[in-house]
Amino acid sequence: MKRLVILGAPGSGKGSQCKWITKDYDVPHISTGDILRKNIADGTALGVEAKSYMDKGELVPSELVIALLKARLDEEDCKAKGFLLDGFPRTVEQAESLDEYLKENGISLDRVVNIEVPDEEIMARALNRRTCSNPACKEIYNLRDNAPQVENVCDKCGSALFVRDDDNEATVSKRLEVYHTQTEPLIKYYSEQGKLSTVVGQVLLEDTIKLVKAELEK
Ligand code: ADP
Ligand code: ZN
Repeated sequence: MKRLVILGAPGSGKGSQCKWITKDYDVPHISTGDILRKNIADGTALGVEAKSYMDKGELVPSELVIALLKARLDEEDCKAKGFLLDGFPRTVEQAESLDEYLKENGISLDRVVNIEVPDEEIMARALNRRTCSNPACKEIYNLRDNAPQVENVCDKCGSALFVRDDDNEATVSKRLEVYHTQTEPLIKYYSEQGKLSTVVGQVLLEDTIKLVKAELEK
């Protein structure tokens, strides 16, 4: 059982790391971005409110996201197996709420993995990113170095690929700015707690996986 957080700028490859971590350690993958996008797809009131922020690359108000997250952590699978948080916390305020929740439940985080990638690389990756539209698959492709065999079709499940609404230049720039000002302070926050492992993102996914694995086995 592990309770983990993965940190990194939007587009740093967190999603790809989450895929193997969730499998190898049998922990539920909890992505607040995915939960919010599901609310948008389902047309919930929360989704309607969240979309206006997300399309601009701004953070959705913390009280909405914190409520969603706590409700998710209260579910049985997280109680039994732990969790891997992806995209949460994104501000010190969110990290403090999480710590409060953990304390109330008598549990704590095992490790926070921070993936470091330069902004220019993140921009190039985001503009080339294609995502599988099948919610059960969510495979991520990159037209530069991991293109699908057939254009716009998922190799794994045959569903159509799409470009996320927030993967355009203006929104990515804004997301990076928001990351540096609001999320980066978490590096200090968790390093002061002695929980932080920083891994430099490598060109090859496999190489980054090895580095992250080494940190999680420590
Ligand atoms: P990425 O995978 O590119 O980092 P996410 O899927 O995590 O992006 O998030 C997409 C958008 O959803 C964010 O730009 C933000 O608007 C919103 N969002 C996701 N998680 C949070 C959060 N913890 N707090 C506030 N907004 C969030
Ligand atoms: Zn697919």
